[in-house]
Amino acid sequence: MSNVEIKYTKLFINNQWVDAVSKKTFPTINPQDESVIVKVAEGDKADIDIAVQAAKKAFQRYTEWRTLDASQRGRLLFKLADLMERDVTYLSELETLDCGKPVKQAYGEIIWAASIVRYYAGKADKILGNTIPADGEVLTFTLKEPVGVCGQILPWNYPIPMFIWKIAPALAAGCTIVVKPAEQTPLTALAMAALVKEAGFPPGVVNVVPGYGPTAGAALTHHPDVDKVAFTGSTEVGRIIMKGASAANLKRITLELGGKSPLVVFNDADVEKAADIAHRAAFANAGQCCVAGSRTYVQSGIYDKFVAKAAEIAKKRSVGNPYEDVQQGPQIDPEMFNKVMGYIEVGKKSARCVAGGNRHGNKGFFIEPTVFADVTDDMKISNEEIFGPVQSIHKFETFEEVVDRANNSNYGLGAGVVTNDVNIALAFVRHVRAGSVWVNTYEHVTAQTPFGGFKESGIGRELGEDGILQYLEIKTVTLSLPKKPLL
Ligand code: ADP
Repeated sequence: MSNVEIKYTKLFINNQWVDAVSKKTFPTINPQDESVIVKVAEGDKADIDIAVQAAKKAFQRYTEWRTLDASQRGRLLFKLADLMERDVTYLSELETLDCGKPVKQAYGEIIWAASIVRYYAGKADKILGNTIPADGEVLTFTLKEPVGVCGQILPWNYPIPMFIWKIAPALAAGCTIVVKPAEQTPLTALAMAALVKEAGFPPGVVNVVPGYGPTAGAALTHHPDVDKVAFTGSTEVGRIIMKGASAANLKRITLELGGKSPLVVFNDADVEKAADIAHRAAFANAGQCCVAGSRTYVQSGIYDKFVAKAAEIAKKRSVGNPYEDVQQGPQIDPEMFNKVMGYIEVGKKSARCVAGGNRHGNKGFFIEPTVFADVTDDMKISNEEIFGPVQSIHKFETFEEVVDRANNSNYGLGAGVVTNDVNIALAFVRHVRAGSVWVNTYEHVTAQTPFGGFKESGIGRELGEDGILQYLEIKTVTLSLPKKPLL
């Protein structure tokens, strides 16, 4: 269904639609049929600089944005959430066109993203400091103030939710923003920019500059007038960003990076329910999910039954045209398609493939839901992030063994445990090293819950109260008090 109307293809700077300084454009591809959807203005260093100057100006003293009551910042965000819901059908069709996810899923993600906007809308006028009983004859209190100009670099796997994760807390805090969407998925970020303008945010508060990572993304990371950079993407690029962010100035950073999250199923679990939880954990968003539960550990007593069930569910997973009622669309682009197929070939040589293992169809970047059993921890498919529809099932015997194996990874984004024994669940929660741990469920992420990683899965947290703290500086104010009575 490529008859979705594409209204915006230019850069969004200062609430205006503009061409790139270079006049260059780049194509965005439909992963369903590999066709060019449209060409979009390609921002690079020069455009990032103009956008950063717009954001810097909007952040100056006495501007419309800086003099706005905090409650009014909240009102603008509430309005934005309403507009997202008004346009949810259009936005979800556009999202599906650009990234291939099932349109029903995209719809749900936009409603979820709107709930996050409302959460932060409500927070805007509840940013509180402390009064502190400091030593000495003083009165001390803290103010929480916006960090400043924020550079927000987005991934392609959840384009609208990631746009919202990056702008809603920053706006509630009073920051100004330059967003660089992923080059694979610029369209909904631009459509969202139009809603930001319609909601009434002043010029320069939110700017959106599509372009490539090493050009536009790097310019944002290195820009001396950017105070903070927030990035979601691969650990590899996360390292580059961390380095770049410290070059011209010492930017604050939030990084939400890769994962190889374990999901552990104990003998006492109901096999059907456990296989279903593990399936969703591994295959959500065609496996293109940083927190995918891609390492499934199953205790030996139920291992064979579990493997059979996991294979059965994977074989039934519907793959195809994302505008129809399917569970899985294509992978995002040829690079990711080839990368995932490469891992599948490696997996076939080392482990036992019990479902899938092939390309689905012969057009577009579709891959069969693939399940490997008898995976061992030394295998490549057990160690590296595949970012595709591939589940690896490992066998284990004891609690101590599986906790060590679960933790034996440089990543620490998510973890899951399936058991009916509360002692096992709590011991697992206590010992696993991950930013989110789910018991008898997986990937339950809401506006109120902080999300982020231990170890190489990231730095800082997004969502919840912790999410807004990343956009605030703490100013400590100390007043000397008179030592004697004044009168
Ligand atoms: P993935 O591996 O999931 O494709 P990446 O981590 O490569 O994701 O990219 C995520 C985001 O980071 C994209 O917006 C991309 O353009 C951007 N990016 C890639 N390389 C760089 C870089 N060197 N500097 C800044 N941003 C980058």
